[in-house]
Amino acid sequence: MDPLLNLRDLLQHEIDDLYSAEEQIIEAMPAMAEKATNRQLKAGLNEHLRVTKEQKKRLDKVKSLLQSNQEGERNKSFLSEIFGTDTKCKGVEGLIKEGEKLMGEDMDPQVMDAAIIAAAQKIEHYEISGYGTARAFAAGLGLQDVAKLLQTTLDEEYKSDNMLTDLAVRKVNVEAEDGGANTEMRSNSGRGNGQNGNTGSTSSRSGSKSGSSASKKAAPKKATQKTAAKKSSGAKKAAKKSSR
Ligand code: FE
Ligand code: FE
Repeated sequence: MDPLLNLRDLLQHEIDDLYSAEEQIIEAMPAMAEKATNRQLKAGLNEHLRVTKEQKKRLDKVKSLLQSNQEGERNKSFLSEIFGTDTKCKGVEGLIKEGEKLMGEDMDPQVMDAAIIAAAQKIEHYEISGYGTARAFAAGLGLQDVAKLLQTTLDEEYKSDNMLTDLAVRKVNVEAEDGGANTEMRSNSGRGNGQNGNTGSTSSRSGSKSGSSASKKAAPKKATQKTAAKKSSGAKKAAKKSSR
């Protein structure tokens, strides 16, 4: 008996999901950039909007590659039982709604910038997860052309996420904390926030090369690269123990 669902079907589902995610992000991002006060943040969001439009085109290429490789009918019935016939990405829809709700609140401009970064990074992390998984599926299926295209986008998502983390811990969070005063002093003492709040560059970087569950081995090493210096020696020992 044929399985109800195979890896190929799952890959197609991930691609449809990411396509919808990119479409929604393209619609939502101008308002986020508009609302941002920090010039670097505004420019970064606008640049990522430009990149996102290219990512959508890249997914068109992925879709046509998958179609040309398609053997037999795609098993849609089981997936539509789970997700319905609507292919709208509910995950990103929810993240965008949460971000819009936050942006509707009354806040100091510096605090608003921190909120915008937080919302944007949640979306980036969703994309990183989706592209990492899809890339790993494609590589596992021997679809190297598809895997390569997905890796290109994955790298771009990491770049954006790292830019946001850097901007948050170096400037925006610091200014949000004290309303712009004592930025220099705070930036020296307050960087610990980046380890917990804007963690994109530390927690997710490992997926860039490995993607999906294949990243298990690389994750602890990579994740500690940026944070190890700031962790206590006790924490280091514990990490070593758990990776054995
Ligand atoms: Fe994207
Ligand atoms: Fe993105």
